[in-house]
Amino acid sequence: MTEEKLSTFTAPKGTYDLLPTVNSAAYLAIRERLSAPLRRAGYGYVETPVFEDVKLFSRGVGESTDIVTKEMFTLTKRSEEDLALRPEGTASVVRAALEANLHKLGNLPVKLWYSGNFYRYEKPQKGRYRQFSQVGAEAIGAEDPALDAELIILADDAFRALGLRDYRLLLNSLGDQQCRPVYRTALVGFLAGLDLDEETRRRAEINPLRVLDDKREAVQAQLVDAPKLRDYLCEDCKAYDEKVRELLTAAGVAFVDDPKLVRGLDYYTRTTFEFVHGGLGAQSAIGGGGRYDGLSEMLGGPALPSVGWGLGVDRTFLALEAEGVVLDLPATTEVYAVALGEEAKNVLFAKVVELRRAGVATDLAFGVKSIKNAMKSANRSGARYALIAGDRDLAEGVVQLKDMESGEQTPVALEALVTTLKEKQL
Ligand code: AMP
Repeated sequence: MTEEKLSTFTAPKGTYDLLPTVNSAAYLAIRERLSAPLRRAGYGYVETPVFEDVKLFSRGVGESTDIVTKEMFTLTKRSEEDLALRPEGTASVVRAALEANLHKLGNLPVKLWYSGNFYRYEKPQKGRYRQFSQVGAEAIGAEDPALDAELIILADDAFRALGLRDYRLLLNSLGDQQCRPVYRTALVGFLAGLDLDEETRRRAEINPLRVLDDKREAVQAQLVDAPKLRDYLCEDCKAYDEKVRELLTAAGVAFVDDPKLVRGLDYYTRTTFEFVHGGLGAQSAIGGGGRYDGLSEMLGGPALPSVGWGLGVDRTFLALEAEGVVLDLPATTEVYAVALGEEAKNVLFAKVVELRRAGVATDLAFGVKSIKNAMKSANRSGARYALIAGDRDLAEGVVQLKDMESGEQTPVALEALVTTLKEKQL
């Protein structure tokens, strides 16, 4: 057999690892803080599988969308339905709510939030990955501008509480079944007069509104004089939109009109919005969502007008970095124990267990280490205090408590150790 050198593995293209040395603590904190406002507003946690029947997305998200036509990771098996890794959260959450008949429990809207990873076969670049993380919310089964406003305000509160400032909220209304077809006809007429490439023309035939979403500058330049949906909204949609705006303004949430904001998913109606950050370059959307009154019926359910959003955890991390916001993260280790000798190790190990049970984040020098190396580990751990004990200390019934900042070292009676450390408000 020829000797083959085993190659090492790296994370697949478009993915990356979260590590304690780099970003994992910040990601946990971001997920926690993006969802905190939801948990205070009656939203219950939902978790759905990371894969679903591929048709859930083709039907729910839309056959003509980039997400479905180009970006879905499909999994094929020998029998049963084809599956796809979820490219977004809304279709799955609505599927789960319908399957469990949550909408029949009497309390509408059904308010749900989720946190998880999503998968799109994208061309990776900074801020755009093949696996990315979102915190999302869906309010299912109520048509009420206050609900749209509530969700937008909760997202704004979450970004603000994290410390973000350099972002804008873009707002639009996509109209409904009444007025959108009229607008669609006007837009189709306008697009027919443009010099568009083959693919864009095809897209214009299936879903002309999505052409407005084209990110290419040359296409955007041609769209400057395109008819605006806002001018075509029916009275109901106009009144609805105005109410949302009124409520946002009253809550002190600033927004900017973006008549071209159609977003990349077909299920949206009326309110659509996106939060864009000034420090992220091309991939500037840190979150977005909107109203999707027809989705439930598209998935075989009853009419359940709904609204929701998804906030990008990866991009929120990058946005915080761009603004130089340092998150206040809990210390991973407050106390670090260093035992000098076998006997001391036994005693300190028991104390470490006790301290942890008392709620103090404590670690211990493991493996045979010289005192010098053990103290280096204590330093690297970021602990405020080191506990050092040798045979002589134990004979006196004490351990040395070293303040890692001042270097000051004081003996503390073993019995009093837990209370002493608790008193230091660790
Ligand atoms: P969307 O469902 O496309 O509106 O996505 C909602 C949010 O998820 C966006 O505003 C982004 O913050 C984030 N997001 C979407 N796609 C990606 C991706 N490929 N990589 C990183 N974040 C993403």
